[in-house]
Amino acid sequence: MVERTLSIVKPDGVRKNVIGDVIGRFEKNGLKVLALKMRHLSKKEAEGFYAVHRQRPFFASLTEFMSGGPVVLMVLSGEDAIRKVRELMGATDPAKAAPGTIRKDLAGSIEENIVHGSDGPDTAAFEIPYFFNTLEIHG
Ligand code: ADP
Ligand code: MG
Repeated sequence: MVERTLSIVKPDGVRKNVIGDVIGRFEKNGLKVLALKMRHLSKKEAEGFYAVHRQRPFFASLTEFMSGGPVVLMVLSGEDAIRKVRELMGATDPAKAAPGTIRKDLAGSIEENIVHGSDGPDTAAFEIPYFFNTLEIHG
């Protein structure tokens, strides 16, 4: 099924100059960029985005990190896009991520792990309109 998913190059990815590397991996694997923008999230915006994690011990640190520098937000589309992006990302902890994945190749820690991807259809349905309105999505 053709799906849409939200991905983010996190502040560590922007800082490390790997925006193109991450987007290139998506494009080479058949995903299409439907929307793209750079934003510096406020703490509140990061907290809203990660609201499902607000009870987790790393919530404060995660939202500090995510609002600590600009990010690249994008909507991707393709066959099985949600699972495909998650596969290309690799496990949350780069130490546990499979070889050849974005996190294994580029990430420094379980928190600063370069990239976000929606983890299911319901999540994508919340995350895409959190950052993009209909007119910004070229699908
Ligand atoms: P994923 O991004 O792989 O879907 P989660 O949804 O579980 O992972 O967590 C969201 C983000 O929170 C992670 O990508 C990472 O930046 C951060 N995170 C997750 N687990 C931890 C942890 N144990 N310590 C610090 N940060 C974490
Ligand atoms: Mg997640």
